[in-house]
Order: sequence, then C-alpha cells, then structure tokens
Amino acid sequence: MDEFELIRRFFDRGDAAPGIVTGIGDDGAVLDPSPGMEQVQVIDTLVEGVHFPADTDASDIGYRVVAVNLSDIAAMGARPRWMTLALTLPPKGEQWVEDFASGLFEAASEFDVALVGGDTTNGEIVVATVHMTGEVSAGSASLRSGARVGDTIFVSGTCGDAAAGLELSQRDMSDAFLAQRFLRPRPRVELGAQLVGRASAVIDVSDGLVGDLRKLLEASGVGGEIHVDRVPLSTALTEYFDSDEALQFALTGGDDYELCFTAADDDVAGIDGIVAIGTVVAGADLVCLRNGEIVEYDDSGYRHFA
Ligand code: ADP
Ligand code: MG
Repeated sequence: MDEFELIRRFFDRGDAAPGIVTGIGDDGAVLDPSPGMEQVQVIDTLVEGVHFPADTDASDIGYRVVAVNLSDIAAMGARPRWMTLALTLPPKGEQWVEDFASGLFEAASEFDVALVGGDTTNGEIVVATVHMTGEVSAGSASLRSGARVGDTIFVSGTCGDAAAGLELSQRDMSDAFLAQRFLRPRPRVELGAQLVGRASAVIDVSDGLVGDLRKLLEASGVGGEIHVDRVPLSTALTEYFDSDEALQFALTGGDDYELCFTAADDDVAGIDGIVAIGTVVAGADLVCLRNGEIVEYDDSGYRHFA
C-alpha cells in the first residue's frame, strides 16, 4: 500500500467539521478562525522507546498522541479545534495503521478536534507528532505567569498513576487502572475551560508535579510551599507501592496530564475534582513540607526503585 492509499483509507475520513474550508487532500488545509477568538497552537511528539515502549498497542499510541496535545490546549484554557499529524513508520502492516487511526479518532471525536492534514514518511522507528490548534476568547488564555503571593496551589485528579503504571509494566506486572492512566490519559479540557478568568496561572503536569510547578512559579516570579501529604493519590497507587514510593511517583513521575494551577480560593469555589496542596509565597523556591519538615524531591523526570 502506498502512502496515498494509506492516507485515503485510514486518515481521510472526509469529515466536514466546522471551520474547515479545505481539509485533507490539498497542499494545505484552509481553516476559518472564529471571530473574536485567539488561536493557541501546540505540538507534541511521541518517539518509540522514549515516550512509549516498543510493544505498546497502536491504538493506544494513536489515542495518546492526541491526548498529550489536548492537555496543553487544556492548560491554556482553549477549546480544541483542528490538528495535523506527522507520522513516521517502519513497515508495520495495515492492521497497525488501522489500529493507530482508530485510537487517534477515538480521542479526536471525544474531544471534538478534527484532523485536517499531515505527513506520512518511512523511518526506522515509530515517531508520531500532532500539531493542534485551539481557540480561546481574545486576551483570556490561561498562562503560567500570573501566580500571586497568597494564592492557593491546586492540582486536579490524582498524581503519579501513569509513572507507576509504566513502572509496573516494566516489572511484568499490571494494574488495569494504573496502566490506563499511562496509556489513555484524560486531558482536562473541561477543567481548563472552567479555569479561564478564575485561575491566576495554569500548567499541565507532563514531567512531574514538582518540576512542572517549579516552571509555573518561575514564570510568575514567585515561590511556593506545598504539603506533600495533601497531594492526591489514587487507591491503586497506594496499594501497589509503599508511601515513600507512592509520593515519589506523585511528585516526580511524568505523564499525569493533570492541571496544576494557582488561584484565590473564592475564585475556584465549586469546581470539582481539584485539591489544594499549598500556597504561593514571596521568593523563588518551591519548598516541600512533609509532616511540617522540609523534604527534597529531585525533579528529574525518571527514577527507578531498586
Ligand atoms: P504534499 O506532498 O503536498 O506535502 P502529501 O502527499 O504529503 O502532500 O499529503 C497529501 C494530503 O494528505 C495533504 O493534504 C496532507 O495534509 C494529507 N496527509 C498526509 N499524511 C497524512 C496523515 N498521516 N494524516 C492526515 N493527513 C495526511
Ligand atoms: Mg504539497
């Protein structure tokens, strides 16, 4: 099957989504932006052996490459609209491509984003890149840089599950919930939209809570203090790992795709699924407190337990 046949069979679904003047099939997509909206553009690449194990199901890779981009769109408070896909493949066979496309379109239809073009190439390993465009009311995108001293620091969902799921699979163990948290992250698009105009700063947690929160605080020119025992942990995480290991995953494990944000408490009252874990303070450091004592967490993305 040549490249054109592959695109036609698996990626060109002829969808007539709103705003698409010309979609897949021409040299470029022609898109009609909504009046009064600004565009948010994000891009993320998944590389075999780096971002997912080589034996990962193609449908999960397809889903995940859309989800990780949606997470960035969510952090900005935007509504996802259109995306393009650059796919590099070794000779994989039709079934692989069909499965990849099914995962990709599952995420796309769930979050209402349309595939409007792409590029397909041969290579030694699988590399999937999605570029996504979202829209947000002019001037209202949520940024990393607005945190103010006295704001509360919040995080959504539970932390550390994805890294724990990956670790279990590397030990030839598996837990359905933790595995899904790695393979099928749930981007917080709805929460991101709710936070527009209410949160003072937002970041999505892709590289670990501590490291990503540090980026937010640095962009805002402030410091922070978090109580690590307030960081939300799933039951599955605490069942498989002791409390030190669970905390290590929660604070430094990657691939959560939750949102971490700062806000005045009153401004986010009534929003479900978020937990207060600390406070924005003057200065430049992030201090982690456990039972009132300062603890250090290295925020390098990877860590293995002996
Ligand atoms: P060109 O040579 O002009 O770059 P291509 O032959 O690469 O165009 O692609 C033909 C059409 O198919 C273009 O509209 C392109 O955006 C689209 N396309 C290519 N690969 C993909 C893909 N993996 N998914 C979706 N659309 C794709
Ligand atoms: Mg061309």
